[in-house]
Amino acid sequence: MTDSPVSFTTGRCDACGTEGGPLMKLSLGKDFFGRTYDRLSPSSDQSPKWFCESCSMQKNLQRDVRDIRAELDKLGAGQSSELTSTAQWQRAHLRLREVALLLEGAAAGSRLLDPSDVHTLIHRFQTQAGAPSVAG
Ligand SMILES: [Zn+2]
Repeated sequence: MTDSPVSFTTGRCDACGTEGGPLMKLSLGKDFFGRTYDRLSPSSDQSPKWFCESCSMQKNLQRDVRDIRAELDKLGAGQSSELTSTAQWQRAHLRLREVALLLEGAAAGSRLLDPSDVHTLIHRFQTQAGAPSVAG
């Protein structure tokens, strides 16, 4: 591992270290709810992050799960939340189920997310007090 302050694409995924594939620089400008994304890395970060296809997909999942969990926490605390909207609630619930499926298909060693965390969130969706009433 080198410690160079600025690296352009090194040909290596920043998450799993694979050198095999097309790499993508992730630009996570909007969060799951369409709001301006509060970046995990500060904008002063001099090291661009490059991810292989599998990790870039999972970074997006990770971001969505984090956003959804934060809104679910707000809802549980009785604060205003994106999830008080039935449409957003359904969309987020669907997204979590999709994430869980995608994680099942990912190799265990390259998971950036713990599938059991996602299942816990899905369970919270099914038991959350104050949830919008969803028909069907
Ligand atoms: Zn990777």
